[in-house]
Amino acid sequence: MADNPLEAICTTIGRISASVQSNLSKLISIPQNPTAPTNLQVSLSTSAPPTSTASAGSYLPQPTDPHTKAGPVTREELGRATWTFIHTLGAQYPEKPTRQQKKDVKELMAIISRIYPCKECADHFKEVLRSNPVQAGSQAEFSQWLCRVHNVVNRSLGKPTFPCERVDARWGKLDCEHRMCDLQGSMTPFD
Ligand code: FAD
Repeated sequence: MADNPLEAICTTIGRISASVQSNLSKLISIPQNPTAPTNLQVSLSTSAPPTSTASAGSYLPQPTDPHTKAGPVTREELGRATWTFIHTLGAQYPEKPTRQQKKDVKELMAIISRIYPCKECADHFKEVLRSNPVQAGSQAEFSQWLCRVHNVVNRSLGKPTFPCERVDARWGKLDCEHRMCDLQGSMTPFD
């Protein structure tokens, strides 16, 4: 135990800082430098140059991982990611949505049709929405509507259509412990 209570506090902070730094480094894959000073020491000795630095590339996703490849995404990747988001929202949408939730998903679809980062796709989606107004009175209604509009896009791209009776099996509820991710709906039809 140090005689000076301040010294003990500084040592503890130094240990916590080293532990946080080590765990963060593992998370973002920065190679660990065992001789590197702790954050506390760095703030006290700014004059000395670092003994080694992570290259800019080590902050970027590694090209060997197909889910985190570096570089811009393709239209197909953007589409798959967006459909994943939209269909998962459909699966998580409450059985009895509130008035606000119904309004929100209608607005969300309208916003996607305006600002989707592929102009040709956005313009086409605007037309799809015009001929297929959003139906979001319940979870089943919304997820089936999403399946139908996705099929309209599939057809326009010459892709096979998806059997909408299988949409719950394909997307299902979000895999989330203790249903912590469920959206709360309405107890009354007037919320
Ligand atoms: P995706 O169509 O991306 O589907 C992903 C997965 O969803 C599939 O693997 C399948 O398991 C499942 N799925 C497929 N159909 C359905 C369905 N009906 N219901 C539920 N699940 C289904 N691309 C263009 O080139 N031109 C466009 O105009 C265009 N417009 C788009 C508009 C929107 C709003 C979005 C979100 C995307 C658009 N895209 C467009 C992208 C396109 O729809 C595809 O995402 C992309 O071509 C990749 O297709 P994919 O075959 O991998 O599967």
